[in-house]
Amino acid sequence: MCIKSVAGRSLWSSGLGRSRYWLLGVVSAIALLLPTFAGPAQAAYPAFLDAYVNDYGQVLSASEKSQVRAQLEQFRNRTGVHAVLLTVNSIYDYGTGDAAIEPFATNLFNTWGIGDAARDDGILLLVAPGDRKVRIELGSGYDRSYDRVAQAIIDDAILPQFRQGNIGLGTAIGVNEIVENFDPSQPPAVNPLLSVVPPAVADWVSPEVAIGGGLAAGGVGAVSSLFALGHWKRYRKRTCPQCQVEMERLDEQADDRYLSAGQRTEESIKSVDYDVWLCGSCGHHEVFDYGSFGSGYQKCPGCRHKTMKVSTRTLVSPTYHSTGTAEVSEACQFCDRTHHYTRIIPRKTPPSSSSSSGGGGGGSSSGGGASGSW
Ligand SMILES: [Zn+2]
Ligand SMILES: [Zn+2]
Repeated sequence: MCIKSVAGRSLWSSGLGRSRYWLLGVVSAIALLLPTFAGPAQAAYPAFLDAYVNDYGQVLSASEKSQVRAQLEQFRNRTGVHAVLLTVNSIYDYGTGDAAIEPFATNLFNTWGIGDAARDDGILLLVAPGDRKVRIELGSGYDRSYDRVAQAIIDDAILPQFRQGNIGLGTAIGVNEIVENFDPSQPPAVNPLLSVVPPAVADWVSPEVAIGGGLAAGGVGAVSSLFALGHWKRYRKRTCPQCQVEMERLDEQADDRYLSAGQRTEESIKSVDYDVWLCGSCGHHEVFDYGSFGSGYQKCPGCRHKTMKVSTRTLVSPTYHSTGTAEVSEACQFCDRTHHYTRIIPRKTPPSSSSSSGGGGGGSSSGGGASGSW
């Protein structure tokens, strides 16, 4: 660095011969690059290079990365919500002075300006494997009830994978859950993961999800490994907790007598698949549910079953400059509850801002969200 500036000065003082122009060019180029090399010494947040996936921690495989990216891009195009994934080895690699992942995430969120400035609806998933920390940072447009949604995603979907060393898979699952739960047209109360699958089961991935949901949700990350994992977890041997005898999984006809009418309706419309495991020795049985994200049914606020068909009809199409409106019709196939309302369709995102380059919409966060460690 010193040598180069001396060389530069000597060039200037000695006058510029024509043959020395190339050297000046080299020196100028080095001078331009110097701030880049000086990055770690000067406190600086990682660069916002990609609008959706910035995998500095290198936790994603190439296929996971492209799937996660496509999912986040589709999510933004469909809902207007800009969600970004950032992985770093450690937040302390950047010398920002942030003492913990929470202020690091908040300050980075505001430096990047994630989300729409008017709605403040941006979302950041930050994974730091070197620190064994994960955070979902939410724009200040979300009220605190969304902190619980973020916490559930971390606790129930992400951390179980991270604890088994599956950082890439857990990250992809986390992105999928964010897309599922922060869709402004679908309040988190009707979320399949958080409401249907009890946390104790933690079997949120079923083969149906991997196949059906992967297409419907715009591409679940790492479909093949999700399938393998879900299949294993669903069909592995289970022993009776009372007498330690191996239990039997009943077939679809035999399990009906252990299911409620609402559960049987869910099975018949294929929104939830139930497995009933029975102990032949003592008669103890356990019921496991496997929601299908791609079924087109949501949880009914009336009967709490995943039997509500939601159809949407566009009344006014959105443009780049104005929002549109849609008529939403909800009809429960079990309790016959119906509900009609209109909702706003977000403005279309101009092609330029949905391109691959980074850059936020000026959104800000006041520290909402949730964290976890493993
Ligand atoms: Zn038993
Ligand atoms: Zn209902």
